[in-house]
Amino acid sequence: MLDLTATELLQRQANGDSSAESITQTFLAQFRQHDSRIRAFLHVDEADAIEQAKAIDAKRKGGESLGKLAGIPVAVKDVLCTKGRRTTCGSKILQNFVPPYDAHVITKLKEADAILIGKTNCDEFAMGSSTENSAYQTTRNPWDLERTPGGSSGGSAASVAASQAPLALGTDTGGSIRQPASLCGIVGMKPSYGRVSRFGLIAYGSSLDQVGPFAQDVRDAALLLEVIAGHDPRDSTCVNTPVPPYTAMLDEPIKPLTIGVAKQFFGKGLDSEVEQAVRSALKVYEGQGAKIKDISLPHSPYAVAVYYLVATAEASSNLARYDGVHFGHRTEKFAGLIDMVKKSRGEGFGAEVKRRIMLGTYALSSGYIDAYYLKALKVRRLIRQDFDQAFAQCDVVMGPTSPTAAFKIGEKADDPLAMYLSDIYTISANLAGICGISIPCGFTKSGLPIGLQILGGPFAEEKLLRVARLHERETDWHKRRPAL
Ligand code: GLN
Repeated sequence: MLDLTATELLQRQANGDSSAESITQTFLAQFRQHDSRIRAFLHVDEADAIEQAKAIDAKRKGGESLGKLAGIPVAVKDVLCTKGRRTTCGSKILQNFVPPYDAHVITKLKEADAILIGKTNCDEFAMGSSTENSAYQTTRNPWDLERTPGGSSGGSAASVAASQAPLALGTDTGGSIRQPASLCGIVGMKPSYGRVSRFGLIAYGSSLDQVGPFAQDVRDAALLLEVIAGHDPRDSTCVNTPVPPYTAMLDEPIKPLTIGVAKQFFGKGLDSEVEQAVRSALKVYEGQGAKIKDISLPHSPYAVAVYYLVATAEASSNLARYDGVHFGHRTEKFAGLIDMVKKSRGEGFGAEVKRRIMLGTYALSSGYIDAYYLKALKVRRLIRQDFDQAFAQCDVVMGPTSPTAAFKIGEKADDPLAMYLSDIYTISANLAGICGISIPCGFTKSGLPIGLQILGGPFAEEKLLRVARLHERETDWHKRRPAL
């Protein structure tokens, strides 16, 4: 059962071959057996998961109509609010925070009759690319326990790669779904900005954050996106346009298909084995009749710099709410209000979060805002214009998701700049608001997965998924599983 996709598990239940309870038990057993080494989860309440599964089985028995994810366990990144269940953002400052409400995507999962199996580890407030910035634990890559699963949604990616859950939710502000998907050999998708409601997603960079799916294959990713996408009046940036039935059209190839390949995605720093695997994936598409077109994204060399101004500026403002007064950690001994706020924040936040609050506060401060923050916004617009021009000539843009396969735990931990560069290919999609997906496209000689990144225009998810599916039909990289 562990090797089956969510789609197949739905089928088994419909045929009467499995129950939601037996499926949930199977994934929980896998969790018990392996998570002491992988450490993908922060909180799992087994009894609660079984209760949920029993309720779904009872519904089925009673002949009630069931949702699209009935009886399917879903792991959830711990930055998404779950009513009555602890939500920490991987931070000490929210160690005991129990949200009084569900994030919109959690409500959607419940309406779809999914099983919330647990909350997954991540970099503190989703700031990082390896989960090493979590205040609680470092998640390990199921393909090689010495290596990182990527981040910041590393726990969600590792849980799916290690078959501890068939599906998971992550969030992507600069690559935090696509990069860990690539490093863990699974599918991960960042929807266009505005496709999925951010209500109840604890904010990092509000103009960049999106929730999205992790899955073993493209069909499952499409299914999960179908469930979580759509209008929500509680998020004013969430668009009110219909959600296409992503799964229905999935096997219809896009013809003719023009693929843009930007030279900026194949420059210095790209590992040769990664490049080879990506070029072979392009060949697979050419074999299907796709046309490859050389394009340019001339402003992409500025993306990392722009991102670390915009994201940190927004973070410094968003994280101002953790003051020890309303919720979260409050220091024990203090002399007056200012001292209380200072000490609570000083004790509650980790080093990377502090670094970003300082950077962002500086970029927004009087005298510097024009030179840094406002300038960054102008370049952000140019990056979007590059993509508008690219999508006028081609259907999708392809390249590597990450410049290297999974790196060693500790390898970049003391060098923030080296860590920031692991998102060099993913960040521009967030700045431009477009959609993107990472799918497995090969392995290094030492057996580490490699991801192909496919980018689509704003709200072109349906096309993106169909293009991704085409590769999957011709290859079997997505079927490989790590030996645990
Ligand atoms: N690694 C990037 C960062 O540290 C992106 C993180 C994310 O997408 N949440 O900000």
